[in-house]
Amino acid sequence: MAIALVTGASRGIGRATALLLAQEGYNVAVNYQHNAQAADEVVAHIIAQGGNAFAVQADVSDEAQVDALFTRIDHEAEPLVALVNNAGILFRQSRLEHLTAERINQVLSTNVTGYFLCCREAVKRMSWQYGGQGGAIVNVSSAAARTGSPGEYVDYAASKGAVDTLTIGLALEVAACGIRVNCVRPGFIYTDMHASGGEPGRVDRVSSVIPMQRGGQPEEVAQGIAWLLSDKASYVTGSFLDLAGGR
Ligand code: NAD
Repeated sequence: MAIALVTGASRGIGRATALLLAQEGYNVAVNYQHNAQAADEVVAHIIAQGGNAFAVQADVSDEAQVDALFTRIDHEAEPLVALVNNAGILFRQSRLEHLTAERINQVLSTNVTGYFLCCREAVKRMSWQYGGQGGAIVNVSSAAARTGSPGEYVDYAASKGAVDTLTIGLALEVAACGIRVNCVRPGFIYTDMHASGGEPGRVDRVSSVIPMQRGGQPEEVAQGIAWLLSDKASYVTGSFLDLAGGR
């Protein structure tokens, strides 16, 4: 068995991914920031299904906490072979002129710095160069990286643009070290990220402009992530999988 780390795995896309990866035989490190109870519930669910998992607290934007997260993983008997950079934040609806440096920095530190830090620590452990056995990383970006989300959350969209570029650069940097790096770009997915804020009727409005006429489920994103991590995608790196109902 080998370890897969999923950041922000106590709910939403991260939770669905953790559950699926456990079914596929990984020992899953379920990272959470605040909600230990929800993370424990994910772990209990996996163990009840005959899988293996453990919860690990860390704010991915905090370098010391990320270091501690990976040190905790080092204590497991198995090697880390998969990382899903999923933890992300979005503040709803603010036109550019209302954005503050505080909000911008908060979004970038979680959605960008957090991905960088986890990639750095994962690469140190997976790379052939450091005696690792190789591995795969999937970064969860967003369709917003290409639309820019004008009038809603350009800060979030720009952070996901950075995730796309990180994916390209890192994939090339570590391709010869046995590590594949890919990206999924979900469109509108029904999770708690959309539960608060936003104008009334937003879900219906957004769904109506999706060619498939509906949002996606977290489990549908998890399937794409699991495929990119798997040996079925053994010749895929630096690639982007749009999971957006045709949008
Ligand atoms: P969500 O809000 O349900 O889950 C995000 C998770 O990240 C939460 O568990 C949260 O606690 C965790 N998190 C946030 N900041 C953290 C930090 N600093 N350290 C550790 N954990 C932290 O949202 P979701 O929809 O499941 O989002 C998952 C990912 O998918 C995000 O990167 C998001 O940007 C991306 N995404 C979501 C959608 C969508 O429509 N839901 C679309 C495109 C991309």
